[in-house]
Amino acid sequence: MKSLYGLLGEKLTHSFSPQIHSEIFKKISIDGHYQLFEVEKKNLVDAVAGLKALKVRGVNVTIPYKVEVMKFLDSISEEAEKIGAVNTICLKNGKSIGYNTDYYGFGMMLNRFNVNLNNKVAVILGTGGAARAVLQYLIDNGVDEVILVSRNKEEGKTKFKDFKVISYEELNSVNRLDIVINSTPCGMYPNIENSPLSKDIISKFNIAIDLIYNPKETLFLKYAKETGLKVINGLYMLVDQAVKAEELWNSIKVDSKIVDKIHSIVDSKL
Ligand code: NAP
Repeated sequence: MKSLYGLLGEKLTHSFSPQIHSEIFKKISIDGHYQLFEVEKKNLVDAVAGLKALKVRGVNVTIPYKVEVMKFLDSISEEAEKIGAVNTICLKNGKSIGYNTDYYGFGMMLNRFNVNLNNKVAVILGTGGAARAVLQYLIDNGVDEVILVSRNKEEGKTKFKDFKVISYEELNSVNRLDIVINSTPCGMYPNIENSPLSKDIISKFNIAIDLIYNPKETLFLKYAKETGLKVINGLYMLVDQAVKAEELWNSIKVDSKIVDKIHSIVDSKL
């Protein structure tokens, strides 16, 4: 019988996850099925209990349940606890454990592109859930300074009390800029004509990372490429966080050469 995995969320029709996980299953020889589980908020607690009852091995969690689901789990990993959000649940021996593989996926992507964080100033655009995982990874891995940029600085400061939060206008007068990470949906399909930053500002950085994966080249990354920056699109993190989830669900380590192959297959298909 196939092992069952899946994605828990509210509206899931546009998810790339089934295709990505099915490619991973093929490459790591797992006889698995990845199912979309659309769940209404009032049924979330029952859905989590149902995963155990049905012996589902693991699920990813997406909008709007990454925070809400935490209170229904038996334990939470260290990184997910610090971030305050779970995007992956492992079900083992009747227990549910929450992890945050956006954190690991972001790190795996940086390693893949040899991005060195030491003595670097990183700027994160947006103050949502993805920004939280990125921020935690950066501070756990030796970045010199992190600046968060928000459309609403005061609200941003209440969310990130211990960090520097500035407005988009204030970003114009920051002198030292190394890495910029777009953690907003600005530029995402269908609004592909939007960029969170102007080409002028982008040109002040050395590396531009967009967490958006649809389209693969956002206007933000197009500007970055045109002004000579190293560019990284969000599909790498999406695949890497999925690989990390498979590693956790199946207690395995996927060889980096296999991960490379999964990347090229997914890249050619999506
Ligand atoms: P979110 O929780 O909704 O937060 C996004 C943040 O971006 C908001 O808090 C807001 O911050 C800012 N924002 C929202 N709409 C904006 C707009 N139109 N223009 C400029 N800023 C805007 O979303 P999320 O879960 O953090 O996801 C953010 C992006 O990352 C999405 O595109 C998502 O698909 C992508 N993502 C990719 C991966 C991956 O594996 N590649 C993983 C997770 C997320 P302020 O109000 O402070 O400006």
